[in-house]
Amino acid sequence: MNIIDLRSDTVTWPTEAMRAAMASASVGDDVYGDDPTVRELEAYSASLVGKEAALFVPSGTFGNQLALFSHCPRGSEVILDESCHIVQHEAGAAAVIAGVQLRAIDTGNRFLDGTAVAARVRSGDDIHEPKTSLIAIENAHSKGTVMTLAEMEDVRRAANRFRVPIHLDGARVFNAAAALGVQAQEIAQFSDSVMFCLSKGLCAPVGSVLAGTRKFVDDARKKRKLMGGGLRQAGILAAAGLVALKDTRLRIADDHENARLLEQGLGTIPGLLVETGGARINMVFFSHEEGSRIDGEALVDFLKERGILVNMHDGAGRFRLVTHYWINRERVERTVDAIREFHARG
Ligand SMILES: *Cc1c(COP(=O)(O)O)cnc(C)c1O
Repeated sequence: MNIIDLRSDTVTWPTEAMRAAMASASVGDDVYGDDPTVRELEAYSASLVGKEAALFVPSGTFGNQLALFSHCPRGSEVILDESCHIVQHEAGAAAVIAGVQLRAIDTGNRFLDGTAVAARVRSGDDIHEPKTSLIAIENAHSKGTVMTLAEMEDVRRAANRFRVPIHLDGARVFNAAAALGVQAQEIAQFSDSVMFCLSKGLCAPVGSVLAGTRKFVDDARKKRKLMGGGLRQAGILAAAGLVALKDTRLRIADDHENARLLEQGLGTIPGLLVETGGARINMVFFSHEEGSRIDGEALVDFLKERGILVNMHDGAGRFRLVTHYWINRERVERTVDAIREFHARG
C-alpha cells in the first residue's frame, strides 16, 4: 500500500499472514455446519466477547440487521441513538428486513442513557402503541467516542427494569476495549447480543460476527439463511478472521497511539481546530477556525496529488481521518507535513 489511505479503517488490505492462512484453510460446506475453520472462528469469537455462541456473517450491516430480525417481532420498536449506524448508514434496512420502527433519540452528542430509555420504553398494552422489543447501543461509536462501562451499565439497569434486551453494535468493540483498557467481554457483558467487524481495523478482507446466547444464535442461523447469508466454503474467509482476532487485534492500540500523534501534529498547524480529550479510538477530527476561507475540496485534491487519501468534510466543515494497520508513524508525519504545506500556502 503505497497510498496513505486515511478515509476509513475499512480500506485495510489483508496482511500477508491472512493471505497465507486463507490459502491453506481447511474448509467444508458451512450451511451443513461442515466448515471447521468457520466453527473455530465462531467458537473463538464467542469466547472473546463472553457469549455462549457466535455466527459468522458477511458484513456488519448484515449482523446488526440479523440481530434486529432475531430479537424483534414485526411492528415492534427499537430504541436507539439517532446518530447510530443502524439509523444513519444501513439504508433503511430495519424497515425492510425486521419490519421494526426505529425510535431514534437525539442524545446531543452524548450516549443513550438509562433515563432516556426509561422515558420511552412501551409495553405495547395500549392498543395504539408499539411494544419496545430492543435497545441498541454502539461502542465504540463511529464518531470515534467510547462509552464507559458505567454508562453501559446504566442502560443495562433500565433495560432490566423493563425486561428489554440490548443489542451492542460493536463494529469496533476491540477499539473500545483498547481505549478503556478492558477486555471486550467486559463491554459485551452489558448486552444480550453483540456484533463486531473483522474487516475494519482488524484487517480481514470480509466478515463480521454476531454473538449471543445459544438459542439466539440458533435462531439467527436460520434467519441468516433466509437473508441469503448462508455461505459455503466460508472457511477461506474465516481463516483471515482468525488471524484478525489472534494477531492484528493485539496491536490495535498502536492505531490509537498513531491517531494521537496525528492530533498532536495537526494541532501545531495555525488555523486548524483539532478535537481532543476523552477516551478516543483510531479517529482524528479537525475543522477550521471560524471565518476560514479554506476550500475543503482543494485540500482533498492537494493531498490526493501527494498520495494521501482523505474524505471530504461532513458538510459542516469537519474532517475525519482514520488510522489503521497500514498507517505507521512515518506516514502520520508525512500526512502532517502535507497538511501543513497546504495551509502554509495561504
Ligand atoms: C462499519 C460499521 C458497521 C457496518 O459494517 P459494514 O461491514 O460496513 O456493513 C456497523 N456499525 C458501525 C458502528 C460501523 O462503524
